[in-house]
Amino acid sequence: MKKLIIGNWKSNPKTLAQAIKLAKASDKRGAVIAPPFVFLEEVGKVLKKAALGAQDLKIPPEELKRLGVKYVIIGHSERRALGETDTVINKKVKTALALSLKVILCVGEKLSVRKKGITVAKKFVAGQLQSAIRQLAEADKIQNLIVAYEPIWAIGTGRNDTPADASEMAMSIKKSLKSAKTKVLYGGSVNGKNAKFFLKALGIDGLLIGGASLKEGEFRRILEI
Ligand code: PEP
Repeated sequence: MKKLIIGNWKSNPKTLAQAIKLAKASDKRGAVIAPPFVFLEEVGKVLKKAALGAQDLKIPPEELKRLGVKYVIIGHSERRALGETDTVINKKVKTALALSLKVILCVGEKLSVRKKGITVAKKFVAGQLQSAIRQLAEADKIQNLIVAYEPIWAIGTGRNDTPADASEMAMSIKKSLKSAKTKVLYGGSVNGKNAKFFLKALGIDGLLIGGASLKEGEFRRILEI
């Protein structure tokens, strides 16, 4: 399965000129670039090989499509922390899929859950997943749904999960979906050094990268892997 590498820029960089420079440097096949909403249109014009992604379904999906957006991130832990519920996430997932956007659905447990062990964490993540995909057509689960496993304690902390545990979680997600073909990505403090271990791990079909996607050289190195 071809690996998928998503660069989630969040609120960075600060200027359009910097965004365009970064987009040109990151424009490789297999990459998805999710810039801040304010730069979507201009970054979209620059990308020739990489696909354009949106960080949420905050603006109408029809408008995202008009800007050339192919992927949308839904259920990121930062949005969940702001109060986004599983019900809202489920609605967003269905809306995006109905318009043929590819959904990157983020799931992942807090540290307090993980401390109870990987089995408890797998159950928690399966629960998040099942709520998010309620009433979804089987075909959508396979073709247009991508799940990003992002343990909250690993996001932006410099403390990544182990490739072995992330792999175990990825396999558990596929099992919960009853779909070995659904792509599962890992996200959480991925960098130029650890990326290859995740990409080699069973069941991990790509990466969702925050901080390291803002560093031209580092992101390119990951794309080369
Ligand atoms: C993220 O924000 O989704 C993320 C994975 O960030 P980082 O790579 O910086 O941990």
